[in-house]
Amino acid sequence: MFISTYQKGSCRDNGDFLQQAPIAVLYHSQPMYDAVDRILIDRDSIADRVEQLGQQLVAGLRPAADVGRLVVLPVMTGSLFFTADLLRHLPLSFRIQPITVSSYPGRSTTSQGIVEQTPLPPGLDGATVLLVDDILDSGRTMGHLCEQLKTAGAADVRCCVLLRKDIPRAVEVDCEYVGFDIPEVFVVGYGLDYDGLYRNMPDISVLKAPSIS
Ligand code: 5GP
Ligand code: MG
Repeated sequence: MFISTYQKGSCRDNGDFLQQAPIAVLYHSQPMYDAVDRILIDRDSIADRVEQLGQQLVAGLRPAADVGRLVVLPVMTGSLFFTADLLRHLPLSFRIQPITVSSYPGRSTTSQGIVEQTPLPPGLDGATVLLVDDILDSGRTMGHLCEQLKTAGAADVRCCVLLRKDIPRAVEVDCEYVGFDIPEVFVVGYGLDYDGLYRNMPDISVLKAPSIS
């Protein structure tokens, strides 16, 4: 699914949005939204797509879950909301073992590769591991984690991302489960941050240029 602009019941700027969806006024009149240029993917479209991804994952992961070999590794902090929503669509048996990785520290908007990471959990030998991240950009984060998981003895590593940027990647990653393909823009919301902010915005948005320095 390729998203280039605001989806469902949508419009291109906040003015239209306020007219068409009065219930959103409460959100969009908040100062947090002053920095937003436009909504790229609205909350309803996210919810629909996350549910579809859940169904796709159930089909692919059931065999591993049935034999007690499924481990889900959410990559924190960006995948916080995505993981919470997605995993509630997986009626399977598995353990959740979050790891924290930082690759866009502070105010940077270009990939720095992994700059900090918590250790992998123990007991991955023979496991089927589902890596869940917010976005696939250069591919360095997922690529590096896949390598580490294989070294730790994982039998099968599957990658799931909500967003995938439509760019040539520094590291090719075989990502089987993708929510939306998006253009090369820096996005925030639904877990994604800029300098630690905006993660709590329910939609995925693009910031105004002066807000990114
Ligand atoms: P990669 O290693 O693929 O270059 O980057 C992956 C990580 O960089 C993601 O997990 C995410 O934390 C961060 N990232 C990449 N693109 C964006 C973006 O457009 N917005 C935000 N907020 N973070 C991003
Ligand atoms: Mg991340």
